[in-house]
Amino acid sequence: MPYKRCGNSGLKLPAISLGLWHNFGKVDSRDMAQAIVRHAFDSGITHFDLANNYGPPPGSAETNFGKFYRDDLKPHRHELVISTKAGYLMWDGPYGDWGSRKYILNSLDQSLERMQLDYVDIFYHHRPDPDTPLEESMGALASAVQQGKALYAGISNYPADKAVEAFKLLKELNTPCIIHQPRYSMLDRWIENGLTEALDTHGVGCITFSPLAQGQLTNRYLEGIPENSRAGKEHGYLQQAEVEKNIAIVRQLAPIAEQRGQTLAQMALAWTLANPTVTSTLIGASSVRQLQENLACLENLSFSDQELQTIRSILHT
Ligand code: NDP
Repeated sequence: MPYKRCGNSGLKLPAISLGLWHNFGKVDSRDMAQAIVRHAFDSGITHFDLANNYGPPPGSAETNFGKFYRDDLKPHRHELVISTKAGYLMWDGPYGDWGSRKYILNSLDQSLERMQLDYVDIFYHHRPDPDTPLEESMGALASAVQQGKALYAGISNYPADKAVEAFKLLKELNTPCIIHQPRYSMLDRWIENGLTEALDTHGVGCITFSPLAQGQLTNRYLEGIPENSRAGKEHGYLQQAEVEKNIAIVRQLAPIAEQRGQTLAQMALAWTLANPTVTSTLIGASSVRQLQENLACLENLSFSDQELQTIRSILHT
């Protein structure tokens, strides 16, 4: 597993990190979830990404991760980078969502309790809040670090201009933002319009989520929508209409992967890592087999100019 420095920080992240958004909640197979986490760590994935609301129900992915931590990972705490976030709806009433200091710090305490941890390595504000002063949200992240409940601060889903404001505020608070977590895949390239440039300028690392577009950039949907897939499941976030909209593009990408001697999933992951701003690509998996397939992308990360050009022309259709 290659490891890369996260922006200008001293923290190195694995090229592939594992996220626990889907497949690790109370509704999912606990045995499979534990097997995936074990296989990930044994393969050099040192970074596990969570959020307060992952489940379903919200919070249950952190609770499950806490059990796996207690059973398997606790002796390796110093070898792990565990992250969590606050920013989406977590509890009822006026203090359970968005970006107030009240919400962010109360949520972190709950996350630590669920995961049975004294601290997380990275604590993120999950999305910008239009109604709370940015100073307040960033101040809460800085407090979390100063209190020793997080080692580093990060932001997620911030557009470039808001992200730059956040970097400046956190710097003034002596808690540099070391990482941004945006969505990025061959089907969603928004970060190329200003965000990557801002991250490079400010020395902030980049961990890209949903690099497989939630499974669309794999062979999962080539023959229709399987019942046990994210788009097929009732609680899956991926909409069938989105799959139907993108399938023509995905079918054109598949032969390029084949020519490279890779699966489509492997090519899609390698493509995100070919962006020099990207520190780590953050995948999900519903089985150990998927994780194994995805890890094997590391065997071929380079693209010829011709391949990149062909891919670009398909993505523009
Ligand atoms: P991916 O794009 O990697 O999608 C993962 C899903 O794709 C799997 O659950 C599986 O779905 C399918 N899949 C994976 N590998 C294969 C394979 N080899 N063959 C076939 N199907 C495959 O990432 P996610 O959308 O899961 O996001 C990853 C992480 O990013 C999250 O867990 C979370 O940590 C983070 N994230 C952060 C967000 C934010 O706002 N900051 C938002 C979303 C995600 P299936 O169930 O169909 O098998």
